[in-house]
Amino acid sequence: MTTKSAAAAARATVYGYPRQGENRELKKAIEGYWKGRVTADALRATAAELRAGNWRQLAEAGVHEVPTGDFSYYDQVLDTTVMVGAVPARHREAVAADALDGYFAMARGTQEVAPLEMTKWFDTNYHYLVPELGPDTVFTADSAKQVAELTEALALGLTARPVLVGPITYLLLAKPAPGVAADFDPLTLLDRLLPVYAEVLGDLRAAGAEWVQLDEPALVQDRSPAELNAAERAYRDLGALTDRPRLLVASYFDRLGKALPVLAKAPVEGLALDFTEAAAANLEALAAVGGLPGKRLVAGVVNGRNIWVNDLEKSLATLGTLLGLAERVDVSASCSLLHVPIDAAAERDIDPHILRWLAFARQKTAEIATLARGLAQGTDTIAGELAANRAALASRAGSPITRDPAVRDRAAAVTDADARRSQPYAERSAAQRAHLGLPQLPTTTIGSFPQTGELRTARADLRAGRIDAAGYEERIKAEIQEVLSFQEKAGLDVLVHGEPERNDMVQYFAEQLTGYLATQHGWVQSYGTRYVRPPILAGDISRPEPMTVRWTSYAQSLTARPVKGMLTGPVTMLAWSFVRDDQPLGDTARQVALALRDEVADLEAAGTSVIQVDEPALRETLPLRAADHAAYLAWATEAFRLTTAGVRPDTQVHTHMCYAEFGDIVRAIDDLDADVISLEAARSHMQVARELAAHGYPREAGPGVYDIHSPRVPSAEEAAALLRTGLEAIPAERLWVNPDCGLKTRGWPETRASLENLVAAARTVRGEL
Ligand code: GLN
Ligand code: ZN
Repeated sequence: MTTKSAAAAARATVYGYPRQGENRELKKAIEGYWKGRVTADALRATAAELRAGNWRQLAEAGVHEVPTGDFSYYDQVLDTTVMVGAVPARHREAVAADALDGYFAMARGTQEVAPLEMTKWFDTNYHYLVPELGPDTVFTADSAKQVAELTEALALGLTARPVLVGPITYLLLAKPAPGVAADFDPLTLLDRLLPVYAEVLGDLRAAGAEWVQLDEPALVQDRSPAELNAAERAYRDLGALTDRPRLLVASYFDRLGKALPVLAKAPVEGLALDFTEAAAANLEALAAVGGLPGKRLVAGVVNGRNIWVNDLEKSLATLGTLLGLAERVDVSASCSLLHVPIDAAAERDIDPHILRWLAFARQKTAEIATLARGLAQGTDTIAGELAANRAALASRAGSPITRDPAVRDRAAAVTDADARRSQPYAERSAAQRAHLGLPQLPTTTIGSFPQTGELRTARADLRAGRIDAAGYEERIKAEIQEVLSFQEKAGLDVLVHGEPERNDMVQYFAEQLTGYLATQHGWVQSYGTRYVRPPILAGDISRPEPMTVRWTSYAQSLTARPVKGMLTGPVTMLAWSFVRDDQPLGDTARQVALALRDEVADLEAAGTSVIQVDEPALRETLPLRAADHAAYLAWATEAFRLTTAGVRPDTQVHTHMCYAEFGDIVRAIDDLDADVISLEAARSHMQVARELAAHGYPREAGPGVYDIHSPRVPSAEEAAALLRTGLEAIPAERLWVNPDCGLKTRGWPETRASLENLVAAARTVRGEL
């Protein structure tokens, strides 16, 4: 391989593009179809138009090879389940009756059947539908969707590369089907699955595919020798097929580690690697195996998960190093562009000075094309782009938004003592008992009460100028009064104001913190037709004024019982936002923590004795590789303690977590040094209580006794039974009684009934102590 020919051959490509359309046309069409307002044909036509539009736009921007098959009506892992014929038994009838309706039944469930479980796609905020497999699973190939989409792109005269979830990742993401032993290992199905992939590859070849991409992000996680062995076998077998397209095995989200030599040796023609955060490790591992002689290397140098402009010169330097390591080097984003919004140019409210720092899917595509051109034709052909890029980067680096000396000085002056409470847990727990005077098994809620249509209307009215700030304040106060009077009547012990003023638990704070940016059109797919607009941590973070105090104080003025202050924690503020790429995450977390610390101090000064700092994202942000866990947990727990440790010993700090299993981070939860934690537990029959106990967790805890994800009202007997189960693991002096999570998605009738039952259960079980 010569560096020169590798450079001359450089091409631009991407692995996937946002599906929704510039005005979320896909969401509207699919939801319209569900409601019976859009026909299946009209939905298909909208989808085909969106695909063609994306491909044309990519090609016009200079992308040489467009991806196909990355489009989805709901989720690409569900599409793979259909492709390999692994439809769960309970959905087969629906799928046989109508493929599209059956597909949505698997995704969303119906009155009769439950959907597939949904969970996070690696460490992103995208959710996929978990395949359900068992020893009896029979795979059959259905390449129709892949072939049709390839055919569409080829008909436009484009060079196209189908993208499939790879067989190893598919199996590693699967779980045992209902009724199958929990220790069933889906990877044992590999030999059955490979012939199906072989058939699909054959079909794609016949339809004109020169290359096919097989995504194997699961290989960037820690993998056992047996799993690596399976990967080796899979690509040996697929590589040995005779009539097949060339194969590009793609990895992203982290370094390949031990899987890199396995894939480098495999008889496949190309490898795609992440050269953003994992650049150094992947480069070193590539050099260690002697590069990829004779192979195509697709270099993910443009970050596919953040919204920042690329440092083009730095990327060119990385690409330059790679040229000597493969036959041909192509340029791409580090992962599918699914994880970023479509077009920064659509943002009219962002200051133009800041806008030039931002790159969404469209801007990233242009960067990729520019880099490929620079590589193939020489950097003087992209001199204009390089100059503009340098100017944008300099503007960002030199901006007072990026660097606020006051924030930096304060963060630099933080000491260990700032992140430590003045008394150890045991002592302050006694002080809190005396101060709060709560009964045994105290009852509380997680914060939000039903977000009614009237509340959303009030917010819309305020935005549209139909009511003024005073009018809005009146409506919020009326809601708080109602929430308070209900809680008093129901007999809850620690009350909340109900969070009626919050649109979203992250956005609400982001809007009030300096350094955070909101977008108008920055929608990103969370799951199915649900899109979120994550705010952007754009610069140094500070809090110009109190954010929650007046609402909490107002609520406290209405009752003699303690009202709990309610904040979103620093880790969750990062996890559900776009983060900075110009400083370690821990530095950003520390800035957010200091801003929240001031809010905590103001709440306490205003008379709040119980303050809850929610960290539902603590577990989900855990890095993909175990070797990186300790460093993450160190800054994450420090940020939480920095937020909360400034309070008096008799002020009680609560935290709340949900959406995950916590068994493996009990030590880190203890390190938060909170006084009370509430956790999701109702569905798992108090499993977390046993996990906390097994690890000797010494603090107060409220494993949820009311599953708020369902409109079902738990009876008092049922909640009491869960409490008794909880008492087997956690002693009465340390057990709290609460729902699994906030009630904002619930209606009032079931909320009232459920909380009344919860209080009744606490009273019954108190009587048994
Ligand atoms: N305090 C928040 C609420 O009750 C917590 C939400 C969450 O954990 N996701 O809505
Ligand atoms: Zn929760």
